[in-house]
Parts: sequence; C-alpha cells; structure tokens
Amino acid sequence: MGRTKVVGIAGRFGARYGSSLRKKWKEVMDRRYAEYECPLCGTKTSFRRISVGVWACPKCGRVFAGGAYQPYTEIGKTIVVSGIAGAGSQKRSIS
Ligand SMILES: [Zn+2]
Repeated sequence: MGRTKVVGIAGRFGARYGSSLRKKWKEVMDRRYAEYECPLCGTKTSFRRISVGVWACPKCGRVFAGGAYQPYTEIGKTIVVSGIAGAGSQKRSIS
C-alpha cells in the first residue's frame, strides 16, 4: 500500500465523507478493537462483540451488556465508581 495518510484504517474511505467524519469513525473503530479489562474476571483482552451492546469475554465466556462500539462506556464506568464510593461511605456511617 502506498500513500495512506495519518487517518490509519479510515484511509479506506479515500477522500470521501469529509476528514472530520473519518477521524470520528476511526476513533470509534480504535475503541472497538482495543483491549479492555473484563469487568467479570479482570482479564485484559479484546472482547467479542456478539451484537450491538452485547459483548463476550473470550477468557471467562461470560456475556455482558456494554456500549454499542466498545465493551463499556465512560458513563458505565462512572456508575460503577460512584456505586463503590457510595457503598464505602455507607459502611463508614454504620460503624
Ligand atoms: Zn472475563
């Protein structure tokens, strides 16, 4: 392959669709194929996407719901973190 620009795998679109759209698309694809830590077994791996928002861990074989193009979203992470923090403060108020 000769001249692909800095857009990486988005170079397949050539000059079509506009540069900002292609960059956005590449960002999504980068996340989709990136490795994530399994929220169930902790293994850092690339998940298999069964369907939109449904992911399977190749290590533990468990299936969970996540983002459409990535195993879990920033919003999902925030909920998990705040949930742990809430449980901690609850524990302190009891003791
Ligand atoms: Zn797992």
